[in-house]
Amino acid sequence: MKKILMVLLALAMTAQMLAACGKKSDIDTEDTIPEITLGDDETHASDDVDSDKETESNSVDKKDPTETDNNTGSVTDAPDTEPGHVRVESITLDKYEVNIKVGETDMPWVTMLPEEAENKGEEWKSSDESVATVNYYGEITGVSRGECMVTVTSKDNPEVSATVKVTVLADETEDDPSETLDPNENEAEVPDGVVLVESITLDKYEVAIEVGASDMPWVTMLPENATDKSELWESSNTSVATVNSYGNITGVSEGECTVTVTSKDNPEVKAEVRVKVTAPTDERTYIDGILIANKTYALPSNYNPGIDPAAQAALDQMIAAAAGDGITLYVVSGFRSYSSQASIYNNYVARDGQAEADRYSARPGHSEHQTGLAFDLNSLEQSFGQTAEGKWLKENCYKYGFIIRYPENKESITGYMYEPWHVRYLGVDVATSVYNSGLCLEEYLGITSVYAD
Ligand SMILES: [Zn+2]
Repeated sequence: MKKILMVLLALAMTAQMLAACGKKSDIDTEDTIPEITLGDDETHASDDVDSDKETESNSVDKKDPTETDNNTGSVTDAPDTEPGHVRVESITLDKYEVNIKVGETDMPWVTMLPEEAENKGEEWKSSDESVATVNYYGEITGVSRGECMVTVTSKDNPEVSATVKVTVLADETEDDPSETLDPNENEAEVPDGVVLVESITLDKYEVAIEVGASDMPWVTMLPENATDKSELWESSNTSVATVNSYGNITGVSEGECTVTVTSKDNPEVKAEVRVKVTAPTDERTYIDGILIANKTYALPSNYNPGIDPAAQAALDQMIAAAAGDGITLYVVSGFRSYSSQASIYNNYVARDGQAEADRYSARPGHSEHQTGLAFDLNSLEQSFGQTAEGKWLKENCYKYGFIIRYPENKESITGYMYEPWHVRYLGVDVATSVYNSGLCLEEYLGITSVYAD
């Protein structure tokens, strides 16, 4: 650290001198110094890693609420692997930063997609084992004060990885050994200026979910100004329900269990949730014979049809017809399972909060992609609507049985922003009728698209 400070100091002085001479602009100075700072450098590095990752899966998703998979998927889509082998295409974590003390451990939660990838083996590596080590299942242990990066790579597809920035703080007793020897000092466990969590309340103490479904109690830790409001979540029976580090509870099998949240800062403070998991009901909503998945109508968690063969055949026909007109259409995303959508959505909730996530990502069960009747084509950018391909799609897709499901200026009715790339298969007759009506599907059927809560 001292060395870095000296380098910094020297740089700052050089910059100042240069500025004083009028040879360098302020902008240059500002640019130079943070670049050289070790701490900042690492922050940049981790930010870059994260944002790269996010552009891969996220810029895509942000644009398409019901969609999330990846552009990368379509680009790197395993043309070079054995036929039939489903490769890992993306890794997301429930956290990209870990702050631990020396001797403490933490473990990011990994989601590899697609769901059906055959080899989800993980390879974990620490950039500096003198700061933190990581074991083969991703448990990170603080070794000494400092920062390093821990990377998880897909064994199956080494191009796919995710990085966690690890900060290891000194164990309070480490710096001053006399403290540990002094029993009085030891009693004063709470350092000056640290406010302990004194109580935890939840917005619900009972959760009833179907197998595969999730729910997340909202936690309030008091006092307001508590220094560390970190939560530790635990399920009494993970074969009934699991809980992630953000308190998102997922039903695994029929039964009951208890989920406990404890203050990391003050382990005596905790709250319990009774969890009841029931078998999924296979209730789908058809209106005028049309399967509906929107914010009002959900699909059951066990509805897992894959791509509908009739929709696929119609799509192939449409792509061929477009090619005849010099228009290239291709699929970016098709079927998505309930559980894929759940991990994607839950990740966004963990990162941005539910209100924000609901603006760009469908809740599990509410994505039209789970019907197997929806496709995203070419580009998940709204500007796609202005391209020759986007215009062709808008004017011609009904002839093949598709509609643009989330048209412009219908957000308040469909519940989703304009998505010129998302088509829904309805069959030629219904699609033509919807197209000629100028209405969106909700208006056409006289239904709503609003979450119940
Ligand atoms: Zn879509």
